[in-house]
This record gives sequence, structure tokens and C-alpha cells, in this order.
Amino acid sequence: MPLRPGLKASTIAVHAGSRLDPSTGSPTPPVYRTSAFAFESIDEMIETFAGRKQRFIYSRYSNPTVVEAEERLAALEGAEGAVAFSSGMAAITASLMSVVSAGDHVVVQRDLYGGTTRLLERVFTRMGVELTIVGTEELESPGDHRRPNSKALFCESPTNPTLRVLDLDATCRRAREAGLIVIADNTFATPIHQNPLAAGASFSIHSATKYLAGHGDLIAGIVAANGEHLARLRDLRIELGGSLDPDAGWVLARSLKTLPLRVRAQSANAMAIAARLESHAAVARVHYPGLPSHPRHAVARRQMRGGFGGMLSFELKGGEGAARRFVEGLSLVRLLPTLGGIETSVSLPAFSSHFSLSPEARAAAGVTDGLVRLSLGIEETSDLVEEIDRALANV
Ligand code: PLP
Repeated sequence: MPLRPGLKASTIAVHAGSRLDPSTGSPTPPVYRTSAFAFESIDEMIETFAGRKQRFIYSRYSNPTVVEAEERLAALEGAEGAVAFSSGMAAITASLMSVVSAGDHVVVQRDLYGGTTRLLERVFTRMGVELTIVGTEELESPGDHRRPNSKALFCESPTNPTLRVLDLDATCRRAREAGLIVIADNTFATPIHQNPLAAGASFSIHSATKYLAGHGDLIAGIVAANGEHLARLRDLRIELGGSLDPDAGWVLARSLKTLPLRVRAQSANAMAIAARLESHAAVARVHYPGLPSHPRHAVARRQMRGGFGGMLSFELKGGEGAARRFVEGLSLVRLLPTLGGIETSVSLPAFSSHFSLSPEARAAAGVTDGLVRLSLGIEETSDLVEEIDRALANV
């Protein structure tokens, strides 16, 4: 049943995509753990394959449990629909493949998640796709990088791990003028703080592994889109595979119900810890869009609502040695190569996500050996403050 207009994210997250199980009345949906759906008759099969009847056919194409997660995320993103995949990378691959072909050119943000850059550089260039990689602020004038064969622009905001902020409205408007389709990775901001489609992007992609699932127990991806882009994505999932398994779909659908609660708590913790770090004598620099000292704070205030996300990074005056001692001084917070979970986690990007880059590329990305990244969880703020203070006393 469609929800009435004007509902807020917390209500949408609980009710969108939710329906009583028709055979039992259960408000908690079953997992449709099936690979295929039987036809009543040959006529029904023909009508279905001819596209005159809409129904489930085969779980690689679509599955009711996965659809629940898709409807919920689409409603949160203000999109016509969403398509779930088996990972964030599968979602990114399908989104790119739905718009670019051999001979096309893509304008790419330098500060993207490293796996996306790697996919573009190692795979898409082999398929005959040309790339121009530019810094976050240069990306805001996409017309400057346009070629006759330019097709798309790939962006992310805030970025990982230095939390740079891209002006999405300006970038999407100018990209449209330059004839470029905007593909945005919205993993860090989540639909609670930011909706790239409303800014003019054609795709809003999530590594659902992170905030959307939120409990560190799932690998999944999902893309919100409208119109022809949505239809093409659905087709591509059938063609490429990479569909989300129904069990994982159930976990994702259930987790999305608490997304607004979790993200607001994570953002509030990030704001408190960012302010605490900024005032500490051992800290050289804090990267967090919610701090007035952030160079794009004004842009972040305009395009993000209800908070600035749960991710922050900072540099210690003592460099790599101090960063190691900080991590060793933590007790609740684990060293984890992921983010967006309910538990606060820490990572040293120079030795994890950015390890495979050359020292020059790391420097260009602003990733120093002493950079520490925190993904704030939902723990009590005062406990986290104490945890961080203890670790800082160790540096
Ligand atoms: N996008 C961002 C911003 C990420 O941080 C990640 C993973 O870390 C991905 C995409 C890829 O997602 P997945 O690991 O679910 O394939």
C-alpha cells in the first residue's frame, strides 16, 4: 500500500515496503528462500514472458524478500525504485555498465572509495572506457573535463577517508549542462542525511554492507534510480547476475527499519568526538564536515540534513607512531576494515584501504601515515569520550 505523502524518514523506514503476509497475517515477512516461482498454467507463463503479466519468475530476476528492502530504500531516497545487489561493488558495476559503453569517457572523482577507482582503472579501461580523474573541487566544473565522447560523472560525498565535501547541486546542474549522467555513491551520507537524486544525480548507490545493514553482518549493495535508468538496472541484474540472496535481503529489509535511529545516534557521536578531538593538544587536524573549521562546512550544512554522518578522520601531531599508540590504547573500539556499524571502529587508511596506492597517490589523496579514521557507533557518547581520551593519553 502506498504511503501518504509528507511522512518523515523514521516513519518511512518502518512502514515502506511492509505488508502482512497474505497466507498467515504475519506482520513479520517470511524469507522467500526459493530460486523459482511456479506458473499456474502455460498461458500464464506465456503472458509473463511476453511482459503482459508482472509476477515473480526466478530469484536472480527478483525476489519478494529482496523487493521489501528495495521498496524501503527507494522510499527513503525519494526514488521510483531501487535494485539490490550482492555487494556494493556489484551495484557500482551494474550502475556503470547501464550507462557507459566501449569508447565512452567518464569523469571520475579522485577521492572515491579505492575499490571503485580500481574497478574503473583495471576493468572498465580494458573494456575501452576512457577516464579523467580529477580532485573533488575540480569535479564541480565538469564541463572543463568534457570530451566529445563524455557520458558520465562518478562522485561521492563526503569522501573516504578525508571527508571532503562535493557540492552536489552545483556539480549535478553543471554535469547536466555538459550532457553527463551523474552516478553518486551515497554510502557515507546515507539517505537520512542526503538524497543525491533530489540534487540531480541519476543513481544513488550504497554499499548496504555499511550503514544500511548497520550491524556488520552482511555484504550487499543497492541502487536507487528513476525511469529508464531503473528499468535498465533491473535488466542488467538479470544479465550480469550479482543479485542479492533472499536471506541477506531479509536482514537488509529488517535493518533498514532502524536506519534513521542508528544514523542519527552515529552522527551525534561523530559530532561530539570531532569537537573533542579538535580541542585536544595531541591532535593536529580533524576532518569532519560538521565542524565549522571544515573548509566546506557551509556546503555540507546546505546539502546534508539532520547531521553530517558518522565518519571522521584526524591526524595526530606525533604522526604514524602516535597513530599506532592511539589504536593500541583503545579497548572497546576495534581495528576493523569496514564502517557504518553500530559499534565504533577505527582504521589507519594508509595501512588498509589505501595500502596498495603509491606513496605519491596516497599523498595526493591526503592520506598520511598518521591519519586515523573513526566510524562512530551508537554507544553512549560519554563512554566513547572516555575511550578516546584514554587512547589519546597513550600517544
Ligand atoms: N562504496 C563505498 C563508499 C565503500 O566504502 C565501499 C566499501 O568499503 C564500497 C562502495 C564497496 O562496497 P562492498 O564492500 O559492499 O562491495
